[in-house]
Amino acid sequence: MNTEHPPSDAPALSLTTPIQYAPGVGPRRAELFARLGVGNIADLIKHLPHRYEFYAGQSPIGQLAIGSMGTARGTVMHCRWVPGRGFGRGRGGRGGGRFMMAIEDATGVLELVFFNARYLVDRIHPGLSILVTGKVVLYNDQRQMVNPKLQVLDETDDAPANTDDRFRPVYPATDDLRSDQIERVITGLLPEALPQIDDHFDADYRQPRGLPELREAYRMIHAPADEDEVAAARRRLAYDELLLLQLGFAIKRKYTQTQLVAPALRFSEAIDGHIRQRFPFALTLEQDKVVSEIVADLQKGRPMNRLLQGDVGSGKTVVALYAMLMAVASNKQAALMAPTELLAEQHYLSIAQMLDGSTVKMALLTGSQTKAERANLLHAIDQGDVDLVVGTQALLSESVQFADLAVVITDEQHRFGVVQRASIRSKAGGDNMAPHTLVMTATPIPRTLSLTIFGDLDTSTITKLPPGRQPIATRVVPSEKADEVYRYLAERVAGGEQAYIVLPAIDEGESGLKAVRTHAKELEQTYFADHRVATVHGQLKRLTRERIMHRFRKGEIDVLVATTVIEVGVDVPNASLMVVEHAERFGLAQLHQLRGRVGRGSRKSLCVFVADPTTDDASERMNAIAKTINGFEIAESDLQIRGMGEFFGTRQSGLPPLQVADLSQHMDLLRLARRDAESIVEADPKLTDPSRDLLRKRLIKQYGHAIDLGDVG
Ligand code: ADP
Ligand code: MG
Repeated sequence: MNTEHPPSDAPALSLTTPIQYAPGVGPRRAELFARLGVGNIADLIKHLPHRYEFYAGQSPIGQLAIGSMGTARGTVMHCRWVPGRGFGRGRGGRGGGRFMMAIEDATGVLELVFFNARYLVDRIHPGLSILVTGKVVLYNDQRQMVNPKLQVLDETDDAPANTDDRFRPVYPATDDLRSDQIERVITGLLPEALPQIDDHFDADYRQPRGLPELREAYRMIHAPADEDEVAAARRRLAYDELLLLQLGFAIKRKYTQTQLVAPALRFSEAIDGHIRQRFPFALTLEQDKVVSEIVADLQKGRPMNRLLQGDVGSGKTVVALYAMLMAVASNKQAALMAPTELLAEQHYLSIAQMLDGSTVKMALLTGSQTKAERANLLHAIDQGDVDLVVGTQALLSESVQFADLAVVITDEQHRFGVVQRASIRSKAGGDNMAPHTLVMTATPIPRTLSLTIFGDLDTSTITKLPPGRQPIATRVVPSEKADEVYRYLAERVAGGEQAYIVLPAIDEGESGLKAVRTHAKELEQTYFADHRVATVHGQLKRLTRERIMHRFRKGEIDVLVATTVIEVGVDVPNASLMVVEHAERFGLAQLHQLRGRVGRGSRKSLCVFVADPTTDDASERMNAIAKTINGFEIAESDLQIRGMGEFFGTRQSGLPPLQVADLSQHMDLLRLARRDAESIVEADPKLTDPSRDLLRKRLIKQYGHAIDLGDVG
């Protein structure tokens, strides 16, 4: 029994009242609401329509105006399915057909025609009460609607007719809880709930920014009079969303800059010389610029918080190594975290190669090491006997203790993550001590997006590839051309080049798709009978995989048949050929990453995507990947094809998704929110002013877990 909210007659509703006590809900429906994430009245108010439909005011059938949109309610008199004549192989390919019915009320009869709507046969029968909206036409002197919107009303439905034209919200709904049912509950609640919504901004703040009051915004989004009201409401709610996010970032930046301490690393020309001497090539101008930004950061006693963006193959690793060696030059430790074990191994090997003959002590820490191996390494790291540690996210686990960790590099490739970064701080020891961090990402992120996903970081960008690279020729071909492709590939392999063949799965399932094991066998017996073929995929033991990659790198394997385990980081300059089978099954960013495995040496590389796209999306992806090898352009296309929501998904960013703000529409708001957030934090770094109580509470509720808010959270 909930004494706070007695379900007695006419309980006073508050925003925290469980939804089951809302009029017309009850325990059974409350469960259906719970499935939509709605637990209390406030949740319901925040359950926003995802679109609107024009709803013509309901009128008696006899008064429906010919030629306009109209809504009418009536009882089904008769109905029948009229099969098509079978000539049309048109829509649906089943020869069409139509469902016909007539409804009546006291004033007249309305005929309804639904083309191809066979499913209505089981749902409509005489006597049912229904509501329809559509354009009214005259046919054989009868009022008629063709393919109107149809709603079957409950027997008990006695909702008053809505006679005004209006926009009707369409809510995210389920089969058991329809949008119109949600609408009725919300509309019923608004008069009581809205006055209880307090605004975290006063009129002086809102007015110059053209923002309506919060409760008015919620009124307009749920029950708009017209489109302008919808737009005004969305603007306010989008602003709030963006402001909270930017506020979180601003607080975190401020906190990092003023409260946290990091070791100031030593720097001199001699140190610079020693570090560069390790690199087998001279840095490019862009790499140099990024290095000097990092060097400046590392010398300060405040933790660096930097994002390094650079396309696949743009040479981020040496830049990261530079930062790590700065730590070593000050007798401190550095760690490099990669998203996969394979990539960690790869980093380890290429760094070890560059450090060959130096006194720097390195360790590779992965999840698949034996207990004893691991214990030994952990001990050495804890004792400071290891300078550079390379590993996966496992480095963040509780058991890894560093003696003196100064620099942390996170190589996220095309994965984003704000969340894990928060736990890095605790690895540095003391309360206010934090290591310098550098996050590398190979997904070039449009500026707008990086402000929202990585808004707490300073950004460095490498836009050009290192010199001496040959552009990668890209072809998209249908599977019937695969034979030609492999014959050509075999010729080039005979000339000394190496190839990757990528497939979506290890074993053939029911899907009938080509898979690693069977395809490798086939290739080995046909096109590449004279060459050395091997496979690599996630089911192999780490050592086996390592051995195969090692042999491939040394040129002892000619053709490597693989899953996407090779997607990130693998760097074999002599491998200049790639075929991706069933390419339509991969995402755009993934295809771009895969292609980045070739084009690393001085040979002209070729990447062939074998694809039979069956959807528009897939065709667009194939066009986009063939059109450019520029990662920034790919990212833009990806954003357009997948849409902001997907791209900015929780899964990838670790942040709660934006629900209202749409960056393709609200760029001005993002800039405004960023400026506002900065000046708020400038004036009141911890939001302790009483006038900001509500704002602070809402910020903590929204981002307290996702963003490290220092002592504000
Ligand atoms: P990323 O991690 O950005 O995808 P890498 O750091 O793996 O790229 O570098 C890609 C390749 O380019 C590597 O083989 C690396 O040795 C080489 N490389 C990096 N910087 C230079 C440079 N300044 N000059 C020549 N080659 C370079
Ligand atoms: Mg890399």
